[in-house]
Amino acid sequence: PNPVLAIVGRPNVGKSTLVNRILGRREAVVEDKPGVTRDRVSYPAEWAGRNFTLVDTGGWEVDVAGMEFKVAEQAEVAVSLADAVIFVVDAAVGPTATDERVVRLLRASKKPVVLCANKVDGPSGEADATALWSLGLGEPHPVSALHGRGTGDLLDAAMKAL
Ligand code: GDP
Ligand code: MG
Repeated sequence: PNPVLAIVGRPNVGKSTLVNRILGRREAVVEDKPGVTRDRVSYPAEWAGRNFTLVDTGGWEVDVAGMEFKVAEQAEVAVSLADAVIFVVDAAVGPTATDERVVRLLRASKKPVVLCANKVDGPSGEADATALWSLGLGEPHPVSALHGRGTGDLLDAAMKAL
């Protein structure tokens, strides 16, 4: 079976946009509203001659009370089934408390993690990406999933981890 690469992160950081960018077509549902992707969705994907299974997740949603974030069960399952993980952070927003919670979960999973600093749409956003070194997950890869900027370098790193 092909290796599995899971895309995780809190809602609205651009996970599904990144999935579409990697697939080269609009298959994953992208929404301005958080929490649209609720399940794990798997897609056959290819990069640099390697075939793998790409998994989009709904990520970490606000609970019913809306008072705090909880770890979405399906995202946890996706991590447990993955060979490597791309953790997507909104670099324009910067690391949030929820991001920190996800980092703890990813560390516990012991899976290789590639850090995607998304929404770096131009050179002026590079500093936002650099700030994500503070998450302690190694090099943040500056990416614009929307425009395709930096996704090649991100995928090269993911292939090394896979
Ligand atoms: P998800 O909830 O993590 O799957 O996020 P989506 O892929 O649905 O995207 C949420 C919103 O962020 C949408 O309005 C996207 O167009 C926007 N978005 C995603 N990637 C980027 C990016 O690289 N730059 C900018 N400016 N917006 C982005
Ligand atoms: Mg999504």
